[in-house]
Amino acid sequence: MKRIYLDYAATTPTHPEVVKAMLPYFTEGFGNPSSLYSYGQEAKGAIEEARVKVATLIGARDEEIIFTSGGTEADNFAIKGVAFANESKGNHIITSSIEHHAVIEACKFLERRGYSVTYLPVDEHGLVAPSEVKKAITDKTILVSVMHANNEVGTIEPIVEIGKIAKEAGIYFHTDAVQTTGHIPVNVNELGVDLLSMSAHKLYGPKGVGALYIRKGTRLISFMHGGEQERKRRGSTENVPGIVGFGKAVEIAQQEMSQEAKRLTSLRDQLIKGLLERIDHVRLNGHPVKRLPNNVNVSVDFIEGESMLLNLDLEGICASTGSACSSSSLEPSHVLLALGLSHEQAHGSLRVSLGKWTIGEEIERVLGVLPGIVTKLRAMSPLLKTGKNS
Ligand code: PLP
Repeated sequence: MKRIYLDYAATTPTHPEVVKAMLPYFTEGFGNPSSLYSYGQEAKGAIEEARVKVATLIGARDEEIIFTSGGTEADNFAIKGVAFANESKGNHIITSSIEHHAVIEACKFLERRGYSVTYLPVDEHGLVAPSEVKKAITDKTILVSVMHANNEVGTIEPIVEIGKIAKEAGIYFHTDAVQTTGHIPVNVNELGVDLLSMSAHKLYGPKGVGALYIRKGTRLISFMHGGEQERKRRGSTENVPGIVGFGKAVEIAQQEMSQEAKRLTSLRDQLIKGLLERIDHVRLNGHPVKRLPNNVNVSVDFIEGESMLLNLDLEGICASTGSACSSSSLEPSHVLLALGLSHEQAHGSLRVSLGKWTIGEEIERVLGVLPGIVTKLRAMSPLLKTGKNS
């Protein structure tokens, strides 16, 4: 059976051109970028080329890009880095209740160390209200962190409006753009952000590499102490093949982004429409319009998301309930609960995320098999008998 991969929000396959670009840096281009001889300088040159590509994609200067081990490190670096460097100014952070665990857990860590954090609520579509950000600001606020788009429900947040509020108040503004970079336009000046997190494996690059954009002049402490790599901001010998792959992935994304976003939006809408038409008691989670081109997230009443996943897997279809990290836990997704869904509705969620190799026939296949799976599971469902869902 041909497998159909529809979990591009969890990770993307590495683009063959990216693999090709990386390979020489495992072999003849193996040098340590800190070494002064030619092997080292060639590796260093490759890193700097990748840095230019990443900076160009988001409208930043090269020296404002620091390569990291991924989105999680970039989020931790931004949040803890600003918190520790600005202790004399204040100890209050504003974020949203639907952030990725990398942001939420970094904030919780800081709370345990005496910082105070406001987790802003969202509306039923997952939108943060800029007015709520404004209201939450105190004279102790040092950082606002709101994600560009949510990884589970795909809602795109009003970053420009929030950025203006943060700027007026003289507060640093971080956005987690892991799900948007390379997929929709991301420009640090248009968005008005001081810090922005990215991850290569969400845009057809390799796993274990990402970057943090740090606007010139932003006060934050170094996160990884060690050598003098990355302008003394992050010690450790650079992941040269990974960084080269990230650069290549960004280059491809830049060329293909606008066409691809249009194509995926049309497939996404075809899937949403089909699911709502062909299955009863289904609701779309996330914003109907302000959403990522590749994200479909629905709650199917009276059944468990895990059962849907396993049955789809038997049909060769790979999807997800909520985020990859929470799908192995029994806790309902904090994002869906924040949108106001009941525990049962949150447990009955299905995320289908599309990507570069998704074609219309695959969407039709999902629409062909899912209604039957739902009927079968509902026939066995104790939730249906008690009517416990809506
Ligand atoms: N932030 C968001 C919004 C994500 O979706 C993810 C990955 O799931 C991360 C951060 C973490 O990125 P990484 O896997 O590169 O650490």
